[in-house]
Amino acid sequence: MINTYQHPDERGYYGVFGGAFIPEMLHRNVEELQERYLQIMGEASFQKELQELLSDYVGRPTPLYLAVRLSRKYGTNIYLKREDLCHTGAHKINNTIGQILLAERLGKKRIIAETGAGQHGVATATVCALKGVECVVFMGEKDIQRQAPNVARMKMLGAKVVPATSGSKTLKDATNEAIRDWINHPGDTHYIIGSVVGPHPYPDMVARFQSVISAEIRKQLKEKTGSELPTHVLACVGGGSNAAGAFFHFLDEPTVEIIAIEAAGHGVDSGMSAATTQLGLPGILHGSKSLLMQTPDGQVVEPHSISAGLDYPGIGPMHAHLYASGRGTFLSATDEEALDAAFELARLEGIIPALETAHALAILKKRKFKEQDRLVFSLSGRGDKDMSTYMTAGAERMDKNDHHSY
Ligand SMILES: *Cc1c(COP(=O)(O)O)cnc(C)c1O
Repeated sequence: MINTYQHPDERGYYGVFGGAFIPEMLHRNVEELQERYLQIMGEASFQKELQELLSDYVGRPTPLYLAVRLSRKYGTNIYLKREDLCHTGAHKINNTIGQILLAERLGKKRIIAETGAGQHGVATATVCALKGVECVVFMGEKDIQRQAPNVARMKMLGAKVVPATSGSKTLKDATNEAIRDWINHPGDTHYIIGSVVGPHPYPDMVARFQSVISAEIRKQLKEKTGSELPTHVLACVGGGSNAAGAFFHFLDEPTVEIIAIEAAGHGVDSGMSAATTQLGLPGILHGSKSLLMQTPDGQVVEPHSISAGLDYPGIGPMHAHLYASGRGTFLSATDEEALDAAFELARLEGIIPALETAHALAILKKRKFKEQDRLVFSLSGRGDKDMSTYMTAGAERMDKNDHHSY
């Protein structure tokens, strides 16, 4: 069967999105990856080491939990795929573990990465410590100030954190620095990208590493309900890696509705948002063609979201294709709706989710599901990193001991 959703074609295209738009100087690095990633990932010794680490180091399989009180409240069946229980607190390590093993087999002795909020930087620093490999993380100067705990984590794990001091001093500038570094170290360095973005083969490679999420969901749902298939799979989308992983093994199942939730910030039309599919136009960002938020003359628009992990002006090419083809349903949730959903999950289920994840949960208030529906949410991460935001932006909710109103 020819599948246009799970994998891109040999040039890296999902429909009209994807490809590899890179400077001449990077051709060698990217071509080496394109030529070797599938072969390396297919080797038995690679798969053996990956499976052992996913199990013994990351803590997989993560549970699939039937959220009883949340289900009762919304009159349907809600399962949470607990990526928040992965080592380091989110799904990102599924990908960094895979890429460090790949880098090792490519003979690379040095890892670089870029990070915005620091979550991908921490996941990268973690696997570099695990393997004893040099790690350099580029981070906008402004983000370094805003995300001090994650900077400290990376340093404690032995990574060098290099400030990007140009432009807006945020993620986009850190990415430019990482690309510059890669050009200067083509022989010994692997660049670990943290989501299903970047030039081919990154979107496909990262989606494959994250697809363990939906492989497990199918098995676990079968054990719990007798059927491998949910009616709906839901996930928040920044670049789209947790969503790609949660959707992957359901993309070919026409009865399963795929729902992606973007960050609407202060509102989709407020000018302070990160709802890429609602606002974006085709364009090239970070080496691939996708949808991105831009001005009429093609300048990238600064996104806004209360959650740093969704504060990204683009979306991976797989998701742009899911949107454009109609295979995926794309919805959004505002900062306030996400805060409400985070407190609701805390009080109904005793689980404090990451702010990113809370955007997906917020959809329960905006869309009605049937009593017999089986929803699976990707619970992409835990909320420890967001406590200072919950304490400030959520201060009013914090002081109400109102279990009964939920
Ligand atoms: C980074 C992050 C995201 C967003 O990244 P994707 O690539 O879209 O998954 C979502 N949730 C959490 C907890 C994150 O750390």
